[in-house]
Amino acid sequence: MSTLHKSEIDMNINIAIIGAGLGGLACAIALRKQGFEVQVYEQAKDFRPVGGGLGLFPNGLNFLELIEPDLVEQIKNYGCCLQKIVVKNIAGETINSNPTTQLIEKYGRTIITIWWWHLQQILAKKLPENCIHLDCQCLDFEQTEQDVIIHFKGGKTARADLLIGADGIHSAVRKTLFGDEQINYLKSMSWRANLKCQQELIKPDEIVRIISDKQFLFLVNIGDGYINWTTRKFAPEYHLSTNSQAMKDRILQDLTNWAEPIRNIIKNTPADKIFAVPICDRPPLNSWSQGRVTLLGDAAHPMSPSMGQGANSAFEDAWVLTQCLARFSNIEGAFNQYEKERIERTKIMQIKSAEGEENQWQTTNKTQPKPQKTRNLDSSFSDWLYQYKPFSTISNI
Ligand SMILES: Cc1cc2nc3c(=O)[nH]c(=O)nc-3n(C[C@H](O)[C@H](O)[C@H](O)COP(=O)(O)OP(=O)(O)OC[C@H]3O[C@@H](n4cnc5c(N)ncnc54)[C@H](O)[C@@H]3O)c2cc1C
Repeated sequence: MSTLHKSEIDMNINIAIIGAGLGGLACAIALRKQGFEVQVYEQAKDFRPVGGGLGLFPNGLNFLELIEPDLVEQIKNYGCCLQKIVVKNIAGETINSNPTTQLIEKYGRTIITIWWWHLQQILAKKLPENCIHLDCQCLDFEQTEQDVIIHFKGGKTARADLLIGADGIHSAVRKTLFGDEQINYLKSMSWRANLKCQQELIKPDEIVRIISDKQFLFLVNIGDGYINWTTRKFAPEYHLSTNSQAMKDRILQDLTNWAEPIRNIIKNTPADKIFAVPICDRPPLNSWSQGRVTLLGDAAHPMSPSMGQGANSAFEDAWVLTQCLARFSNIEGAFNQYEKERIERTKIMQIKSAEGEENQWQTTNKTQPKPQKTRNLDSSFSDWLYQYKPFSTISNI
């Protein structure tokens, strides 16, 4: 059994986080609460209203609460606490409707849906303004025994004692650590947009999944009167259109036989607000760290959104990494324990999510993929997913 000591890592060390996404910000909050000095570097010039709808599951919410006890209450104020998961056909008729009571009874929480950008705002407000540096695109870094020098676009540099790459699936930190690696396109294309509207198809406490034999469309309440719609389709190959009106026309063409109220959601969405997202992951890594540098969230373990675990697992990473740094006697020991706690679990999530993506299209033949009607996780897997308790072999955390 490993033993954790009171940290001998100097609390005055300067920790740099690349990426002010959900994982990077959550980690910055957790580290600052432990007394570490943290600077976050983000490539965006400002926090614009970007991103789609996210489902926050019991495991992710548990870790957000461990990071900062009032976060979940704030998220509830912005987002939507789901009472029902509804499946409809393309005529807009309900096929089944599952209350979330079982989830609440078993795991103490329901799913909360929220706009990615609102959650980014909630997290960013927990940090002093001078700790987030916008318009800082990390290109690469170099490290010595003593420190890490980060290079940004435009020639700026920053020095840190420790570097955390939370810069998403196209992570520059990961690339500097491990070189150019393959990215897997999972043969699934997604188009999504956020729309402020009154909806007859979705009630305020629901998530709705509308399915055909070729694709599906999610309607998600993301708070503040907005819904996020996302349609996903089996697509062995993809090319990203630069003409947004042509893209919108194509989506409507795919939904030709769908009921008019459903098509109206797409019709009422300005074409330039629709984003195409090819669903991708990367092969799991056996190590995330080298020297003074480690990875977190999508930078470490990008996965398909089929189980809705990308952001949720990033919150787990953020808390576990912080505990390791706060309790271990040196950086190497802390990173080793972090990897021990996290790599195996996220590897399973990556594999299961990729399988889930593929299983969404039960292919009878190559031209007729069939979306599954239900996507229930089996009970022991749900327990493993939602009741995660890290450091189970370590007594003093
Ligand atoms: C269609 C879809 C639906 C999803 N649904 C869910 C869901 O329901 N639940 C869920 O948990 N997850 C979901 N996800 C996944 C989730 O969005 C991601 O896993 C999560 O946002 C990852 O957080 P992150 O902080 O690791 O990375 P990101 O959110 O990607 O943040 C990375 C940040 O780093 C910045 N950055 C990137 N490169 C650099 C650089 N070189 N220098 C400086 N800054 C940089 C970016 O601008 C960004 O702000 C979904 C994803 C998709 C595509």
